[in-house]
Amino acid sequence: MGEGKIVVAIDSELKHNAVDLARSVSDYIYAVKVNWPLILERGIGIVKELSSITRVICDLKLADIPNTNRLIAEKIISAGGFAIIAHAFCGMDSLKAVKFTEKVRLISVIAMTHPGGDEYINGHWEKLLKTATEAGSYGIIAPGNNPVILSRVKKSAGELKIFSPGIGTQGGDPVTAIKNGADFIIVGRTVYDSDDPVSVVSEMRSRIGSYD
Ligand code: C5P
Repeated sequence: MGEGKIVVAIDSELKHNAVDLARSVSDYIYAVKVNWPLILERGIGIVKELSSITRVICDLKLADIPNTNRLIAEKIISAGGFAIIAHAFCGMDSLKAVKFTEKVRLISVIAMTHPGGDEYINGHWEKLLKTATEAGSYGIIAPGNNPVILSRVKKSAGELKIFSPGIGTQGGDPVTAIKNGADFIIVGRTVYDSDDPVSVVSEMRSRIGSYD
């Protein structure tokens, strides 16, 4: 398994087959992240397939009642997923249902990267962080393109791993995000839309350099 701080989000196969892409960049990355577009295209089997190459973070942003959250989480764990992303705003019971066994690495969303994130969720990150922590999260999602929120989150996050999307296409810079507290940066379009994903990822890794 590769190490480092880069998580590649594979949301589209328009340019590159997901399995080929994961294989080609696997030495440079910590994990891949899959979201609804890829799972709806390929089925849950893609989680199993990618898990033989690298860690697979399943970004379903679960936001349902506890019973439904748990049923989905069970499917992901049996497919070999490394971690599951869920929304913290549905409350403690819904988050704890995702973490239905010790085996689950729960990553809770406490803030978002897009402009609409400022309408509701981003103003509540402190309470959401508390819920995420008490629910036994392994990590949290905090915006890599919002240094103000990210650096504040870092001060309160304790042992939780901080995963930061919003890098590249959404304006965030990898090194700035890491300096502001990201343990891992999540990069999607900048990699999967590129003609040369390996160069993009390897250059990013050398830019991160000593922070790795
Ligand atoms: O293409 P781009 O690098 O913007 O992709 C970012 C990935 O991270 C997408 O899969 C998106 O769903 C996810 N994400 C995000 N912002 C959040 C949580 C997840 O961009 N707050």
